[in-house]
Amino acid sequence: MASNNSAQAPSQTQVLVAGAGPVGAFTALLLARNGIEVTLIETNTDIDRSPRAIAFQPCALAEMVEAGIYDEVLEHSVTDAVISWWRAGLGAEKKHVATIATKEGHEPFLTGLNCAQSVVTRLLLSHLEKEPSATIVFGHRVVDVVPEADAKHVVVTLEQTASESSEKTLQVRASWLVGADGGRSTVRTAASIGFEGFTWPKEEFVATNVYYPFEKYQYTNRNFIIDPVHWAIVGKISNEGLWRVAYGTRTGLTDAQIRAELPEHYKYILPGPGTDYRVEQVNKYRPHQRCATTFRKGRILLAGDAAHLNNPIGGLGLTTGILDAGPMARALTAVIQRGAPESVLDRWSELRRKTWWEQTNRQSIEFKRIAQQGGYGLDPNGIWNHDEMAEKLGMMEHIAHATSDMREKDEALYDALKVPANQRAARRRVWGLALPPDWMADFEDDAVVERRRKLRPD
Ligand SMILES: Cc1cc2nc3c(=O)[nH]c(=O)nc-3n(C[C@H](O)[C@H](O)[C@H](O)COP(=O)(O)OP(=O)(O)OC[C@H]3O[C@@H](n4cnc5c(N)ncnc54)[C@H](O)[C@@H]3O)c2cc1C
Repeated sequence: MASNNSAQAPSQTQVLVAGAGPVGAFTALLLARNGIEVTLIETNTDIDRSPRAIAFQPCALAEMVEAGIYDEVLEHSVTDAVISWWRAGLGAEKKHVATIATKEGHEPFLTGLNCAQSVVTRLLLSHLEKEPSATIVFGHRVVDVVPEADAKHVVVTLEQTASESSEKTLQVRASWLVGADGGRSTVRTAASIGFEGFTWPKEEFVATNVYYPFEKYQYTNRNFIIDPVHWAIVGKISNEGLWRVAYGTRTGLTDAQIRAELPEHYKYILPGPGTDYRVEQVNKYRPHQRCATTFRKGRILLAGDAAHLNNPIGGLGLTTGILDAGPMARALTAVIQRGAPESVLDRWSELRRKTWWEQTNRQSIEFKRIAQQGGYGLDPNGIWNHDEMAEKLGMMEHIAHATSDMREKDEALYDALKVPANQRAARRRVWGLALPPDWMADFEDDAVVERRRKLRPD
């Protein structure tokens, strides 16, 4: 089948991937490279360019190496060899707190990199377009799924979102369906898969892309700004001087109100005079901690934001999505081409869910607590309160560690980070998001598993 950007949807395909975000594009590319007939369906007519992920953790980079795209991604990236923590404040109140400066040594991928997620998606699609077994269809939305049309197929109904044709809906029979259609996943809903967890009830996040000379004031490529109100994440996006500044607001603000309040936030966050900046994009988001009750139901698989959502402080969401997609594509390939039992997909689902709950969820909440001084900061919106709302939303177990004694623990952590060995340990923690290299060794060549092992720190 000829690969064709914005081709017609076929009536039959081996794997249908819903959503041409980074996770869908990555999944489709891995499957197509294995010669599997894959159809990637995207509701929009182009990829999403809103300000979202920029930080890719080292474990995601190892997946990119396996996919053969790492060198190209690197060309469009800046590395995060140095991570800094600062205290927010007005003028000279801003203070450096801690640094992780561990550089690449003999251990591969101890550091991550920053690259706009739209750049990575574009690159993935440019490779996918060249794959003969891939079809990319923009302007079509998955609107319905019949999960078990027969024992071997699902039937997916698509609606044309960008067509003047009177023929607005069409159906595709697929042996497998991958829902990579984001947090509001139609596939997840159609498959009646639950989405457990909670939405942070008292705050929204604002992501801004801005030109400002942070480096002049010793800001490094990745920075956490600590403050109960004016906390922020500041990261360099490109060598052209574009940076990401993300911070929190109270809920329910209009876009105009967010724009109006932006200079007040920047006053506490931006080093130096904090005036001569040029804002390029502003977008607000609701933060969540949610996970699908399963990532596999029959012939339907979920990956990326469709499978889980976490608050973006710490940059773990897309990394976790890439770490779903790599193993899932390999497991599905083993099932389709090598006669592996379908139970390997159940195993993948169990392990990815367990990893999300024990690693991504916990680490992302902890990054948020540290940035917001949860438990001991001013907290005027009551974000970390152990109150009725938290109880009602099932948050208690997850925020219970935000207690006043954490101030001392956080201070001790900043102190400990003066020691290089502790910096390395902090860097390595994020590798817990990845599955063990040999989790499906029975269905892979030893050399492949060994190569993967070598991409990881000891
Ligand atoms: C402000 C912010 C900063 C972030 N920073 C980081 C970071 O630094 N590092 C990190 O790892 N993560 C980060 N994240 C998280 C990251 O952006 C997401 O995890 C990532 O976008 C998930 O990719 P995805 O492909 O699963 O979903 P998405 O990017 O949401 O892509 C889903 C795609 O599916 C399409 N779609 C939706 N419904 C349908 C349908 N019915 N039919 C067909 N197509 C459909 C959508 O149009 C979209 O193109 C951040 C998030 C935010 C909000």
